[in-house]
Amino acid sequence: MPDSNIILGIDLGTTNSLGAYMSPAGPVVIRDQAGNALVPSVLAFAPDGQVTVGSEARAHAVANPLATVYSVKRLMGKGIRDVQQDLKFLPYGVHEGPHGTVVVQVGQRRMTPQELSALILRDLRQRAEAALGQPITQAVITVPAYFDDAQRQATRDAGRIAGLEVKRIVNEPTAAALAYGLDLPAGQAGKKEDATIAVYDLGGGTFDVSILRVSGGVFQVLATNGDTHLGGDDLDLELIDLITSEIVERFFPQAREKFLTDVPPDLSPSDRSAAEMAFVRSFFPPATRQALRNFAEAAKIRLSEEASATVEIDLGEGRLYQRAITRDEFEARAGKWVDHTIEHCQLALADAGLTPDQIDQVVMVGGVTRMPLVRRRVGEFFGRTPYTAINPDEVVALGAAVQAGILAGQKRDTLLLDVTPLSLGIETLGGAVGKLIMRNSTVPCQAGETFSTYLDGQTNVDIHVLQGERELAKDCRSLGRFQLRGIPPMPAGAPRIQVTFLIDANGILNVSARELRSGREASVQITPAHGLTRDEVDRMVKESYTHAIEDLMVHRLIDTRNEAHRVLAAVDKALAQAAHVLSADQRAELDAAVADLKAKIDSDDADALYEAMGRANQAAMPLTQAQMDEVLKQTVKGRRVDEV
Ligand code: AMP
Repeated sequence: MPDSNIILGIDLGTTNSLGAYMSPAGPVVIRDQAGNALVPSVLAFAPDGQVTVGSEARAHAVANPLATVYSVKRLMGKGIRDVQQDLKFLPYGVHEGPHGTVVVQVGQRRMTPQELSALILRDLRQRAEAALGQPITQAVITVPAYFDDAQRQATRDAGRIAGLEVKRIVNEPTAAALAYGLDLPAGQAGKKEDATIAVYDLGGGTFDVSILRVSGGVFQVLATNGDTHLGGDDLDLELIDLITSEIVERFFPQAREKFLTDVPPDLSPSDRSAAEMAFVRSFFPPATRQALRNFAEAAKIRLSEEASATVEIDLGEGRLYQRAITRDEFEARAGKWVDHTIEHCQLALADAGLTPDQIDQVVMVGGVTRMPLVRRRVGEFFGRTPYTAINPDEVVALGAAVQAGILAGQKRDTLLLDVTPLSLGIETLGGAVGKLIMRNSTVPCQAGETFSTYLDGQTNVDIHVLQGERELAKDCRSLGRFQLRGIPPMPAGAPRIQVTFLIDANGILNVSARELRSGREASVQITPAHGLTRDEVDRMVKESYTHAIEDLMVHRLIDTRNEAHRVLAAVDKALAQAAHVLSADQRAELDAAVADLKAKIDSDDADALYEAMGRANQAAMPLTQAQMDEVLKQTVKGRRVDEV
């Protein structure tokens, strides 16, 4: 629980900011009562001087753009001459202050970027104080690796204005690596103690890639590259363009025709399409475009999960725009932006004098890295699966909290070591646990097992990843869930689902599931070490001993029950095919045995259930025999005896 020495870790972002602190079980983000951690880095100023921060302020932006300030981070520590490029993106007034500095016009007042950032920091501080129930006076704040001294100093000043003693300014990529525990030696024989890490950070409006070297727990930035105007917003714009051109084409064809006839006929095809796009982009007023933007962003986010997303926009007067956008279609449009990010990765590597295969780990930061396309391309470029287990919006703040914890002298979670502290497995039918990796296995390690479906025509399988020593899922710790979707319909038991657990040297667990017949795949990444203290691990192990017999009995009951369900299904199927082979007596005996088994299937008496199952199997024997004879007949038909 919170102690008096808490140093707040703060990710002060261009679009969103958030705080985190180090708890005994590891870093934890600060959430409000609704569970939100992200605070939009937006300020709204009311005429009476009242300031609001965060989502409320953002809601204000459309109605009152001049009194809403965002993207202050772009101005921090800059001179007026440095920010000319940025000005066209900012609707509020930016002027020259003393000594060529920058000031922002807010109503009647002029404020420095430091003062504005301080308002965000003060809000984060108050949120943390409310959540932890104690005053906070110290902080670690993150900044991009490319921030120069003036920008870092401006960030420190902002902290001071907010009443925070800034214990350290940490590079964002370093914080992200810290959150994954990459400063700790990977342990285990044969592994080197220093590592080279690429941190790929694709946010709403900016892209950064940093190449870090960590050695003996110390990080060094080897190179950074990026684009301060490339991010999720560009992908939204791709979708807005798609949607708006279709709306104009479908519902406002005359306006488009008129525009096209007005375009000079001698324009080259590319200039012509650029002019058409400019026309489409200016077709709707800003408020409508903002609404379209929300639709576009929602579709983009949905397409990270689903193969297609339906956009439905009621334009009034009976005009209903409806469109299913597929992931393939979106990826075709998003591809060029992702290509640009990869070019920046190439440049960063070149600056560091490295090739992709010399990168040991890749860490993903920023909301857009949830896109499967981004994960795939980054993985292909570096030739390794990027780390995605930690929420990419929170990973920098969590790392700032880790750094804060180290500064406060809190003991580090030491679970990222040579062996897995607890067993790892998945939930199987009936709530039992199938363990794939046993406790105390040396890492890195890999294990796999093949599972199947239990319903005819089942196309989705839930994979529930568990950690713990007990036999039942409900008594273990849930690490994550994912779904393998799109398995072609097959009879129960026919699909072959290979589940693979892979723990790398840093203790990060990759779980993947692949249906071998169709090749469908899905996966999840987990940091098993986070959130458990050594004491909790010990308790979980101890409980597994005290409950061993009881757990075993329950596991046996679940297995028997699953088997009984299979027997009942098989009898049903056999009766449908070969009921005629049974005499009246045999049929009566089978019906009685089946009724008895059904009556006992939900009882907790595993022995009685086992016996009833045996009787049903026995009574079904003539049926099974007849089916086997039939199969044999089919095999022999038309063939000579010596061929069989
Ligand atoms: P950040 O600046 O890191 O907070 O990232 C925000 C950007 O990530 C915005 O453009 C969001 O639309 C985008 N984003 C958030 N979640 C997803 C998702 N699941 N798939 C694709 N983009 C996302």
